Amino acid sequence: MRIELRDITMKFDDVTAVDRLNVTINDAELVSLLGPSGCGKSTTLFMLAGLYKPTSGQLFFGEKLVNDIEPEHREIGMVFQNYALYPHMTVLKNIMFPLRMTKVPKKEAEERAIEMAKLVQIDHLLMRKPKQLSGGQQQRVAIARALVKQPKLLLLDEPLSNLDARLRLEMREEIRRIQQEVGITTIFVTHDQEEAMSISDKVLLMKDGKFQQFSPPQQMYDRPVNAFVGKFMGNPPINMIPVNYQPSNQSLHIKDTKNSLQLDKQLAIPNDSEKELLLGVRAEDFFVTDSEDNSITARVELVERIGRDTLLTATVGELKIRALLDPEQTTNSGDAIKLSIRKDRYHLFDAE
Ligand code: ADP
Repeated sequence: MRIELRDITMKFDDVTAVDRLNVTINDAELVSLLGPSGCGKSTTLFMLAGLYKPTSGQLFFGEKLVNDIEPEHREIGMVFQNYALYPHMTVLKNIMFPLRMTKVPKKEAEERAIEMAKLVQIDHLLMRKPKQLSGGQQQRVAIARALVKQPKLLLLDEPLSNLDARLRLEMREEIRRIQQEVGITTIFVTHDQEEAMSISDKVLLMKDGKFQQFSPPQQMYDRPVNAFVGKFMGNPPINMIPVNYQPSNQSLHIKDTKNSLQLDKQLAIPNDSEKELLLGVRAEDFFVTDSEDNSITARVELVERIGRDTLLTATVGELKIRALLDPEQTTNSGDAIKLSIRKDRYHLFDAE
């Protein structure tokens, strides 16, 4: 089912939790709602679920305006952070529960619950109670219960946050597999950019209730539309270098240093005036060079081996930057080095 948010706004007294959000989510897509705590992810999810009614704007499920449709009539399945399983019921009864509530006959409900249990690979645990299950298994029960009524939209509210790191990786792959097998439109709330990058068709990044960018994850990483997006995506965080743009020779002068860089593409800056900008460069887009040309002089502070990579912390004037070196490049702390940027692998943002 296709989902469309048109100018969706949610106000709580004087707080605008979600501010004129416009997004269209295609059928069978998995979209992550991403952003720092308090940016409006849960509020957006609750409006989709029908638990909150938007202050203004329109919410469409397919062609249908659903602003006034009650949660139970929205054909959605929801999984909460804490799974919210019924502790006194077996796994089978937990999964059957939504069907029994709508008077599906017991035998049919049982068959459909077992089918769901197979899909999420817990059909060997049907007679257990939730407390006899691991976190990952409880999560699977919650997903099976959310899907048993064959909803048209699946809503997941930070579903992996209560799992340890290893299980989190396993379950995110599982959620993706199940979502693709069922082919259900899914919205996944997370504050973890790596999780969003790995699981989604598209990521919706928000800040202070406001839309920032809605793109496939790789595009969000490669083409961030502003400094906030650039900083939020990627680890180690993108280097942000304050520069002065000199229109006369199309160069960037790194503030408080003697370093200048020549641009390899024309900037569209009105009036061709000098301008303060932020030069964003990801650690992997720097390389060590012998050339004086178009390089930055830096002093190595720290060299860390991380698996096959070498992560360098260096200073350029007062500024600390990080660069990821190729395995064959070696350097030691205290060395003076020259760093260049891979072709076209830089971003220019308005200074914040
Ligand atoms: P997130 O899920 O991204 O952490 P939320 O959607 O929970 O963010 O919150 C967005 C903003 O709205 C925050 O400033 C939060 O304090 C506020 N907010 C959320 N729910 C309520 C509520 N029921 N009453 C008042 N303010 C709220």
